[in-house]
Amino acid sequence: MSILIKNGTVVTAKETKRANVFIEGERITAVGPAVSAPAGATVIDATGTYVIPGGIDAHTHLDMPFGGTMSSDDFETGTRAAAFGGTTSIVDFAIQARGTKMREALDVWMAKAQGRATIDYGLHMIVTDLAGAGLEDMDEMVREGVASFKLFMAYPNVLMVDDGTIFKALSQTAKNGALICMHAENGSVIDVIVARAVAEGKKAPIYHALTRPPRAEAEAVHRAIAMAEIAGVPVYIVHLSSEDALNEVREARDRGLPAFAETCPQYLLLSIDDLARPGFEGAKYVFTPPLRPKEHQPKLWDGLKTDNLQVVSTDHCPFCFEDQKILGKDDFTKIPNGGPGIENRLHLIYHHGVNAGKISLNRFVEITSTTPARIFGMYPRKGEIAPGSDADIVIWDPEAVHTLSAKTHHMRVDYSMFEGFEIKGNARTVISRGEVIVDKGQFFGKSGRGQYIKRAARGGAWK
Ligand SMILES: [Zn+2]
Repeated sequence: MSILIKNGTVVTAKETKRANVFIEGERITAVGPAVSAPAGATVIDATGTYVIPGGIDAHTHLDMPFGGTMSSDDFETGTRAAAFGGTTSIVDFAIQARGTKMREALDVWMAKAQGRATIDYGLHMIVTDLAGAGLEDMDEMVREGVASFKLFMAYPNVLMVDDGTIFKALSQTAKNGALICMHAENGSVIDVIVARAVAEGKKAPIYHALTRPPRAEAEAVHRAIAMAEIAGVPVYIVHLSSEDALNEVREARDRGLPAFAETCPQYLLLSIDDLARPGFEGAKYVFTPPLRPKEHQPKLWDGLKTDNLQVVSTDHCPFCFEDQKILGKDDFTKIPNGGPGIENRLHLIYHHGVNAGKISLNRFVEITSTTPARIFGMYPRKGEIAPGSDADIVIWDPEAVHTLSAKTHHMRVDYSMFEGFEIKGNARTVISRGEVIVDKGQFFGKSGRGQYIKRAARGGAWK
């Protein structure tokens, strides 16, 4: 099976050029203006489109338990929705249960993905317990291709670990080359503020944001980076949401530290005003860290432009409004934390970033594909259009106008956080390892065709 994509404009993180792309089997074998198709090859005419590396969403939660329920997309529905939006790889999170080995969590999450995923997937490991053989467990995970670990500075008694545990994990990555990802919010302080609010009867969704101030995020980002600096290793801040937190990352990077951070479309485009919507509707926007006042949005866009933020991921963690978000109807602390986004990341960043003149086309590719591939040990197999790379390619139609809506999206959730957003630009054809899985709004990928990505630990790919 071979495919020639011709007459398109190839856009990578580095360059924009007229070139044809030839795919043999699962790999790209030639890129250039004169590359032609041998007899029998499928030819895709990409006139008027951009040919970009498939999107990589480095932060998703499919089939994830939370607060007595499960995120509503599993690996089948979630990866299919991702593909419709031009994402061809995800990195999801396995969660170590306290007192158990990470291997058990890895097995559980592999079983969730295998036979269901329609695109390729890697896994991070969420560390909740480093007692016993935890550090050796981390090394074992790295050998399995789990080259990154996430630790929580929030959610005391559930996921939060103390600074000593964080420091031990960071120090271990100096030896095994893994990357520590931090959920940075001061959970202990937040829990006190939350308890006060609840005692005062403040239980509407808006209090989810009002009890998690930006300074609680900034403080934790500062502390995480300081601990990484002491350990002499890089650190990656997940879902950075505020100007306060961004300033901490910038200060560290200005000093030359390998501090990295991602943000998500919701922080760039939504605000605390959405949490204040009438009735219980604000619950649709309850996730952590919370949405911030509008003034933070342009700062985050600036961060993406200046490379103080390197990645846009989604933190996709959907819960249906009707039967899941409702669990917190009388108390915001019981609203499942998370929102849907896996399908719309490229749409939103392309339209509000590239079309709006905030970032270049190449930067769009860099923050949605190439840099996540580099940081998470998949480059140049993923995130690149070059001979030898996996043929994960999106043929992006810059003229396609569409409106985001729960009525038409493919995520298994009954609302859209971006309902009614008009977007110019869409994935017309999506190719995953040489196979057309989406074409003009139709899905052709088989469930279970997605493969586990064994990711590489750090080896000079930083920056
Ligand atoms: Zn998350």
